[in-house]
This record gives sequence, C-alpha cells and structure tokens, in this order.
Amino acid sequence: MPRLTIQNIRFRPTKTIPSGLQVSGSTREPASEKTTKICRSRHGCRECRRRKVKCDETRPVCSRCQKRGLVCFSDPHSPPSVWQLELPWIFAHASTDKVAQTSKPNSSLLQWWFDTACHIMVIDPQVNPLSYPMMEHITASESLLHAIQSISAAHRRFFDRDSRVDCLKERDQALQLVQAELGSKKVSLLASFFTIFILGISSPWIDESVQDYGLEHFLGARATLDIILSDPANWTDPTVRVITGYYLFWDMAIALLGEPLDLPALDTDDMSAIVESMQDYCHPIAGRSAKIFYLLGLVGRYVRRVMSDGKRDLFFEMNTEDALLVWEPTEVNTHVRSLCNSFRSQALILLYQVRSFSPLPLLEHQDHIEGQIHSHALSAVSQLLDTPVTQHCFNIQAIPLTVAASGLKSADSDLRQQVVTRLKAIYSTSRVRTILLATSLLEELWELHDAGVHITYVELMLSKNWKLTLV
Ligand SMILES: [Zn+2]
Ligand SMILES: [Zn+2]
Repeated sequence: MPRLTIQNIRFRPTKTIPSGLQVSGSTREPASEKTTKICRSRHGCRECRRRKVKCDETRPVCSRCQKRGLVCFSDPHSPPSVWQLELPWIFAHASTDKVAQTSKPNSSLLQWWFDTACHIMVIDPQVNPLSYPMMEHITASESLLHAIQSISAAHRRFFDRDSRVDCLKERDQALQLVQAELGSKKVSLLASFFTIFILGISSPWIDESVQDYGLEHFLGARATLDIILSDPANWTDPTVRVITGYYLFWDMAIALLGEPLDLPALDTDDMSAIVESMQDYCHPIAGRSAKIFYLLGLVGRYVRRVMSDGKRDLFFEMNTEDALLVWEPTEVNTHVRSLCNSFRSQALILLYQVRSFSPLPLLEHQDHIEGQIHSHALSAVSQLLDTPVTQHCFNIQAIPLTVAASGLKSADSDLRQQVVTRLKAIYSTSRVRTILLATSLLEELWELHDAGVHITYVELMLSKNWKLTLV
C-alpha cells in the first residue's frame, strides 16, 4: 500500500454553506405544505421526499419530522458535505496486485467517515479525536483505515443488510491487520487501541441477532490499555486520556450485558487511580464523567451479580450511593452538565432497582424504593429533553435516557412519548438500529408496568437474549 500521508490528503471547504449548519427551531416558520409542493428540495429528507413536500433540511432532524415525531433520514447519496477529500495519489499508485488493490484507501468511505460517521459519538464535533486528529493514526495503521471504512460502509446505508457485505469485508481486513500489527509491534499501541475500539463498539450494530456485544474486542482493548497504563508516565498523555475515556465509556455501556465473570475487573488499583487523576479532565464523549462511568461500570457488574445469585452487598451499595450523591458535575455547558447528571441518575436508578429485587425486611419499603426510582427518572428525562436536538451532545443521550425512561409511570405519558421521539431523533443521526430495538423494548416495558408486572429494563432485555449497547 502506498504510504498515506497527511500531505497527500487535502481537505477543501465547499463553496456552499452546508445544510447541516441551519439552525433548527428558528423564527422562520415552515411554509404550508400546499404552497411548497412545487419547490421540493433535492437534498430533502427521505420522508419529505416521499410525501412530496419541502424539507427545510434542518439536521439532524428536519422540522417536519420533528413535529411528527418521525425518524428523519437525509439522502445518503447527497450528504451535507463540509469537506471534500481528495486522494489523487491512489490512482497514481494503482496496482494490479490483488492484496494491494483491496488494501488501498477508499476515498468515498473515508470522506463519509470525516463528514458524518465520526461525529456520532462526541459532544462537540469541533473537539473530536475520531475526526481529523485520527489522520495521524490512520497514516500509521492500515487496520485502523479498514476499521473506519467498515463503519462508513454500514453507516451510510443505515446498517442495512446489503451494506453489511462491504462492512464485513472491511472488518475482516481490519481484524487480520490489527493482529499482525500487534504481533510486529511496528504500529503504536494507541493506533491499535482505536482499531479495536471501533471494531468492538460496533459489533452489536452489525450483528443481526444483537447477541454479540464485542466482548473479545473489549478484552483486547483492555489488554492493550493495561500495557499503555503500566507506565504511569503515560497517564497524563492527552491521547492516553482519550483512549482511557473511551474504554470507561465502553465498559459502562456493556457492564450490564456481560456475565460478571466474563468482564475484566474495573476496580483495580491502576484503574481507580487513573480515574481519580481524570476528575477534571473533559473527555470528548461526555465531558467530566470519567468517575461516573467508572461507578456505572461497577454498578452494572453488581446488578448482574445480584440478578444471578441474589446476594446483596450492602457495604458496596452504601459506598457507591454516597459516591454518586456527593459527585458534582463541573461542566460549564448546561447541556453537557445535564448529560453528566443523567448518567449519575442512571447509576442511582440501577442501584435502587437492585433494592427492589430483594428489599430488606422492615428497612426498605417497595413504595419508597419506587418513589426514589421515579424521582430520578423524572429528573433525568426532563433534563435530557431540555437539550434541543441541535445541540450535538444529544447523540450521547441514548443510554441514560433509556434507563431513566424505564422508570416513567403511566401518568407520565407525555414524557414517554417525547422520549420515543427523542430516541428516533438520535437514530436519525447514529443510524444504529439497536436504538430502535431499545425503543420498542421500552414501549413493551411500559405496557408490562402499566399491567402491574414488576420487571426491569435489563431483565426484559436479557429475557430476549438481546445485548443492546445503544452507542
Ligand atoms: Zn424533511
Ligand atoms: Zn425529515
């Protein structure tokens, strides 16, 4: 493969203002459907095109879809493009060799990554390690190039069945290459970590049965991270902090999915020390939440343990509840602060649900526990819904929103409906179908709760043998 260098990839701003930069909810009222039928937009969303009405092209959800609570898809063949990616050297180096042919960069998939796909897991697209900072690692690691291309191939086609073939081919190459890279030690462990993270976190997006939550990749990521963190001098390195934050986020996302013994321990001396050292560090995925992700990882494992053996650890519960309650988010941005707060509520809700599995006689009353769960559910859901979808951090809301919304009652039917609309908006951007599955699971759960059945979101999900990660 020809060496990919930053110099031979040029990014050029397009001449037109991308439609994605239009502000939603502006004072400009959309014209009536009657008068706009004749001026339908070429780049309008799928739903507006189908209904032959003008789309205002607000991203991620156009105003009409927002009003109607629909999933909004912009045409994947005409994405709002901020940058144009040029790789003229690909053609100059075109080879007849089969291996080199399949290993060369795919410019349209790379462009899709930088324009669109890399932004689904970040609170601010301007501060995104998975965007242009990734160039440095792509140039050093072919496995990372293919991992990125695999996500782009699937994301731009909404992870549909047909796109999965291209996606799986790219994944297969990425897997083979990363194993070779780890063996040869010629590629930095940081680049390899990114490859493993991208392959692993996307496993449930691609697996039709939603049973593969990327455990093998997760174990590989942890082994890689442990080597990096074994030298404390690395702890303050900016990229090391970035990957540690991704690891903690990933751990939090799957802690409820794995059998407790399958997951590597989180409360090791090194991990707890590095989490403490990251208290004021603002991570691109959810700000200053490292401590909350860490606690969520512990709570998730605990929930699964109690579900399997019924044995509660009151000391752990008390300490963790205290740690969660005293934690204060120091975010300046209101919406990111709401996000951090809702992750905290998520942890408390999970902890209180354990109490409701087997309340202590005379000490814990079911009504009181349910009251606590409901009050945290209301607080988290309201805070998350107060964040407009034009704020990029709404993309990260799926996990805390789903867990919190599971505690809403039948009297909260308006909020329930707003949650469903919000999850569809998140899906419009992330296109990850596990979010749609989670939405249907939530609706099923509410029906069961309204019929008096006592079951948690996690219990219902596991009863279907689903492993939904929601990111
Ligand atoms: Zn539209
Ligand atoms: Zn739309």
